[in-house]
Amino acid sequence: MLGHLTQRGHELVADARDADVIVVNTCAFIDRAKQESVDAILEMAREKEKGRARRLVVTGCLAQRYDQELRREIPEIDATLGTGQVVDILRAVEGEATVTDADQGPPTWVYDHVSPRVLSTPSYMAYVKISEGCDYTCSFCIIPTLRGRHRSRPLDDITSEVHALAARGVKEVVLIAQDSTRYGLDLGIRDGLAPLLRRLGRVDGIRWIRVMYAYPSTMTDAILDAIASEEKVVKYVDIPLQHASEAVLKRMKRPTGKGNLRGLVERMRERVPGVAVRTSFIVGFPGETEADFEELLAFIRDCAFDNMGVFTFSDEEGTTSFDLPDRVAPRVKEARRRRLMAAQKRISARRNRARVGERVEVLVEGTHDDTNLLLRGRLATQAPEIDGQVLINDGSASPGEFVCCEITEAHPYDLVGRIVPTSAA
Ligand code: SF4
Repeated sequence: MLGHLTQRGHELVADARDADVIVVNTCAFIDRAKQESVDAILEMAREKEKGRARRLVVTGCLAQRYDQELRREIPEIDATLGTGQVVDILRAVEGEATVTDADQGPPTWVYDHVSPRVLSTPSYMAYVKISEGCDYTCSFCIIPTLRGRHRSRPLDDITSEVHALAARGVKEVVLIAQDSTRYGLDLGIRDGLAPLLRRLGRVDGIRWIRVMYAYPSTMTDAILDAIASEEKVVKYVDIPLQHASEAVLKRMKRPTGKGNLRGLVERMRERVPGVAVRTSFIVGFPGETEADFEELLAFIRDCAFDNMGVFTFSDEEGTTSFDLPDRVAPRVKEARRRRLMAAQKRISARRNRARVGERVEVLVEGTHDDTNLLLRGRLATQAPEIDGQVLINDGSASPGEFVCCEITEAHPYDLVGRIVPTSAA
């Protein structure tokens, strides 16, 4: 949307008080995201009432799902756009006489390499969406309704975009999708992520390629071998497993049981030496017993994941698990989330302590939020925004620079290091 607007000559401003048109792009995945989106719309509606803005446009998943309700409850909204109506941002912003309505049908749109893009990330990294939508029916998830059927961008198209990004100075690309390991199946390519990684591994200027959101049953050996053998592909797998109890997984309509999941984690570690595995779980799914939870706790202790996220179950209207009986009380859900995170904190601290003394490659990202006496950066095994980071207390470097660091201290999630000459690595 930013790309289309700037191409047309509109100017982007970061402060809503300076804007003629305010666009709020929303999320509707779980309760908390919806609340945050509604709060942002209300805040911008007040801004429109008292400030210079003439129009308020609401886009994205919340608009896709609750178009009518939003318009009824918040009359300051002038236009809404669903997830597949990116190009319509021009009509919505320029204020046609007729108000744009969010298209309620399943979205089919996906961008291509000629779509104009403004990077909202730091200049050295970019997210690249390789496919859109999802064909699974996990019972807790509204994403297939919001994002439509799974559809992949062609190999050549993604490769062209990554070449263009490299020419703009991007060094790290993060490949995203709702279901990245299904990439290519709709184009008739089995294990399509493998040839895609091999292609992208040949793009000059790109140093790190990262894949997010793998699905357990399509994480094949062909894909793991591509991750292992392609030098630029970071040895990092992000694979949400959601639970470990057979009974809960079944109710979640997830295809894999605990035995298979344990085997999968072992297989990933065997085929990709040194791989860091990130996963996420949902606690408090309807019917989750104390025994189910204990099973999950034992599973994470056994697997000792490198990084882990835990969400409490959010009951979403329009999903098949909506209104299931045997609800777990909110305080029990929260207590389970905390117990799981506390166990993971100990695992993470242990893993980090073992790294003290290592010399590692770090991508410098800038100064620390609290003090400009510290630099902060990431290892190849730390994804932006969600994983820990490396704090650098000795040496200087610019954002986007790769340096060699010696790890000198370990915290539960972050590491501390000092820059050393590359030749010492
Ligand atoms: S695979 Fe992911 S996006 Fe698709 S339905 Fe399941 S949880 Fe949702």
